[in-house]
Amino acid sequence: SLNTERHEYDVVVIGAGGAGLRAAIEARQQGKKTAIVCKSLFGKAHTVMAEGGAAAAMGNVNPADNWQVHFRDTMRGGKFLNNWRMAELHAKEAPDRVWELEAWGALFDRTKDGKISQRNFGGHEYPRLAHVGDRTGLELIRTLQQRVVALQQEDYEKHGDYEAYIKVFAECTITRLLKDGERISGAFGYWRESGNFVLFDSPTVVLATGGIGKSYVVTSNSWEYTGDGHALALLAGANLINMEFIQFHPTGMVWPPSVRGILVTESVRGDGGVLRNSEGKRFMFDYIPDVFKDKYATTEEEGDRWYTDQANNRRPPELLPRDEVARAINAEVKAGRGSPQGGVFLDVSTRLPAEEIKKRLPSMHHQFKELADVDITAEPMQVGPTCHYIMGGVEVDADTGAAAVPGLFAAGEVSGGMHGSNRLGGNSLSDLLVFGRRAGAGAAAYVDSLEARPKVLPELVEEARQEALAPLGRDGENPYEVHHELQRTMNDLVGIIRKAEEVSEALQVVEKLKERVQVVGAAGSRIYNPGWHLAIDLRNMVLVSQCVARAALLREESRGGHTRDDFPGMDPEWRRKLLVCSTEDGFTVKVEEKLQPSMRDDLITLFDRDELKKYLTDEEMAEFDGISK
Ligand code: FAD
Repeated sequence: SLNTERHEYDVVVIGAGGAGLRAAIEARQQGKKTAIVCKSLFGKAHTVMAEGGAAAAMGNVNPADNWQVHFRDTMRGGKFLNNWRMAELHAKEAPDRVWELEAWGALFDRTKDGKISQRNFGGHEYPRLAHVGDRTGLELIRTLQQRVVALQQEDYEKHGDYEAYIKVFAECTITRLLKDGERISGAFGYWRESGNFVLFDSPTVVLATGGIGKSYVVTSNSWEYTGDGHALALLAGANLINMEFIQFHPTGMVWPPSVRGILVTESVRGDGGVLRNSEGKRFMFDYIPDVFKDKYATTEEEGDRWYTDQANNRRPPELLPRDEVARAINAEVKAGRGSPQGGVFLDVSTRLPAEEIKKRLPSMHHQFKELADVDITAEPMQVGPTCHYIMGGVEVDADTGAAAVPGLFAAGEVSGGMHGSNRLGGNSLSDLLVFGRRAGAGAAAYVDSLEARPKVLPELVEEARQEALAPLGRDGENPYEVHHELQRTMNDLVGIIRKAEEVSEALQVVEKLKERVQVVGAAGSRIYNPGWHLAIDLRNMVLVSQCVARAALLREESRGGHTRDDFPGMDPEWRRKLLVCSTEDGFTVKVEEKLQPSMRDDLITLFDRDELKKYLTDEEMAEFDGISK
């Protein structure tokens, strides 16, 4: 380990998406020497792909909006399983975070009177998403990067070194967190290009690594999203919660295989696209749940009229909430009425003139032409559900982002609790800003509280080195094959609809894969070797998949992003319970039930009794009646 490159920081942020950048800015603004480490190029994170906008109750378009309304919407969206303190902080602070972005140079779309414009989105009672056309995530990242550069320029003025207080380590993957006793003392990783190791000596680590999508064969996530942060936290002794809740987007591409899962925007349906099965039937009319019966058209004629006359007709069922549409597509395919490539048909070509399609959906037109050789102005697309977002993640203190391990913090998609069982669109971008800032501040305060700096123990560095090197040159299991089997297993058996037998079967497969991961081998050298990188990532994906499957098997109800065929209803008893994943040996996942703390009186009384009845137990209702008197 003597040859390992070594850096000393106060705060090491892993991940350069919205959460990581906002955390790093905060830590630096509080005077801490901060590193930003990211696996891919600087600027290439999922945050860039977000289109819709950042939800914040600024009340610019409808003055009736306020944090209480946003809080209620978020709790409803998550089916009341959310960490209510996080939902409260998020609703209260999102507007300030958006205004702050503007002060740092973000150019949001405007209302007529010059305020930041806000758009409607599913589950939000009022127009609430601050946006920049359909590229809000790009503007968010651009602005945060610009802020990092501005801070570096300040540091240059003062210290003669741009990187004196904030430095970016791009294309650098962290594989281990280091501890001194109970406390974090650093992080270990490798440069992807050279394969050389790098060691960060730091009393704090902020995880901001995003999602886990690459454990599923069909996903909208890109290659980096192998659940690294989730696994690093587990291995360091922290807990993960809500891991059974995964958001599947109804429409991803299904063909060709190389692009399977890439997102097909909801706007296709918004602009008239209809879903059909192999028999040519518009099947969504068969899948309108009772609670929505009065809000959706029951005939094709009425649904069609809605596009031109929304006042006098109900919307077509293709525009039901995402989870409903995803389940319906899944059911059609499972019943043998799928399209040739295993999805269903999404057709806009018979609905709009070609010129109109090219005008309204230019990127979709381009995407299908380039990637699938399909002309969407002349023929239907084939689409199916795609693994999109994980609600579950590191259990953190709402106010500071602190995990159970001293010195460890988490924010953004890698953290859990905020979104409960289901995330509302637009609530992710605001989540990143609110809790990124809080985690950065939490880490800075923790550094200040330390009397002595925890030490990097050489034997742990050596262990991390050995672990990373192990697959290299080993004549063992092929990492691509192991990965593919894991992805197929999770996709087919712990996907959008789950049942006990299938999830149990998946767990058996994962048990075997765990053993195989121990002996994966990658040929070639350390220099830019993707097979080796995947071999290292597999440890994380297998751990995270175990969490998802174990929790999915235990939760015997259906709620948000967890649908059990054998337990179709929502159960108030289960709402109170979190499933907490941890590991002692780094190999076997333990899952325990834990009761959620009851909601504070001033928050629960924001809801009507009739609504609460749908979610709370009788015991909780009695308590509510006590306080609301
Ligand atoms: P990310 O932006 O995902 O960044 C993670 C960072 O961690 C990256 O820099 C990565 O390189 C780094 N990293 C990961 N592992 C390691 C490691 N081991 N070592 C070092 N670095 C590591 N949400 C919305 O609210 N609205 C939308 O319209 C929307 N559209 C979306 C469209 C697509 C196609 C996708 C995939 C997601 C979309 N989402 C949307 C979700 C949202 O974009 C993400 O949940 C959010 O951006 C996650 O931000 P983050 O900061 O937590 O992490």
